[in-house]
Amino acid sequence: MKINLISDTVTRPSQGMLRAMMTAEVGDDVFKNDPTVNALEEKAADYFGMQSALFFPSGTMTNQTAIKLHTQPGDQLICDKYAHVYNYEGGGVSFNSGVSCKLVDGHRGMMTSEQVEKAINPPDFYHSPLTSLVCIENTTNKGGGACWDFEELKKIRKVCDANGLGYHLDGARIWNALVAKKENPKAYGGLFDSISVCLSKGLGCPVGSVLVGDEELIGRALRIRKILGGGMRQSGYLAAAGIYALDNNIDRLAEDHQKAKEIGEVLSELSYIKKVEPIETNIIIFEINASMFTEAEFLAKLVQNNIEIIGMGQGKLRMVTHLDYTDEMHEHTLNVLKQIA
Ligand SMILES: *Cc1c(COP(=O)(O)O)cnc(C)c1O
Repeated sequence: MKINLISDTVTRPSQGMLRAMMTAEVGDDVFKNDPTVNALEEKAADYFGMQSALFFPSGTMTNQTAIKLHTQPGDQLICDKYAHVYNYEGGGVSFNSGVSCKLVDGHRGMMTSEQVEKAINPPDFYHSPLTSLVCIENTTNKGGGACWDFEELKKIRKVCDANGLGYHLDGARIWNALVAKKENPKAYGGLFDSISVCLSKGLGCPVGSVLVGDEELIGRALRIRKILGGGMRQSGYLAAAGIYALDNNIDRLAEDHQKAKEIGEVLSELSYIKKVEPIETNIIIFEINASMFTEAEFLAKLVQNNIEIIGMGQGKLRMVTHLDYTDEMHEHTLNVLKQIA
């Protein structure tokens, strides 16, 4: 039994998902003739109560497309210092859009509306870049799966409206926030100009992301997707996995959250653990006591027990629970963590 807690992207498609994929009706999506892709796009748009949606190969590409659509070269976007768009998209913000990031020193990847307001450059001060976009991440990845307070998101919308800024949600793990906080996806659809979601994270698809927005924005997104090389042909085989995931794998995220909380509870009792960050969804970030053993020693001990996790730098370690992390694996993991001490 190999236990992989590196990310919620390590899942394999289930039998049911594979069956949906293998039996999908397909066409050439570059000509917009794939009925399964069209159905997924419609389903995703309806889910958020938005007009339109577009299927992409990755969440990086959906975010990069949204940023391109909301900005002009030379502009600046505002995001938290932990943001995926800043840290983990290969510098695509500058490569693809010629845009810089104004980083906000938020809390666990989340900013306040006051911080956002302060980060806006005065539009008539032509020496500094023109601020044109605010990017939010929910749940926050580097922030340990933290969920935003929806009231704060509404306040930031007001700041965007007052200053003519676009408002983009990197919702790679929005599903986890919706389940953890029992929120309505349509409330998010009503708030943001664009939403990027991943089907390949908690929902267990092998591939796929969707960008959601109004018809005008998604119409323009089609060209950017083409330019970035994201136009795919019989991608209905992949979109079928997405439809299956939306129908079957959202509510069950509560199980991943429960297991993550249980791991956190065990960790916080152990003498070799220095700190466990609050756990709201499926991500556990913690630090070990350097006086007991080094990070490398700890990771090696886990590997000896068939458990793989990942280091995030600066002494932080991460575990992520997911669809393929079974009850049996969970019991084994909790026992190993206790025994290592
Ligand atoms: C995973 C992730 C993405 C997109 O990643 P891809 O691997 O390109 O699909 C975007 N934002 C966040 C917060 C993520 O965790």
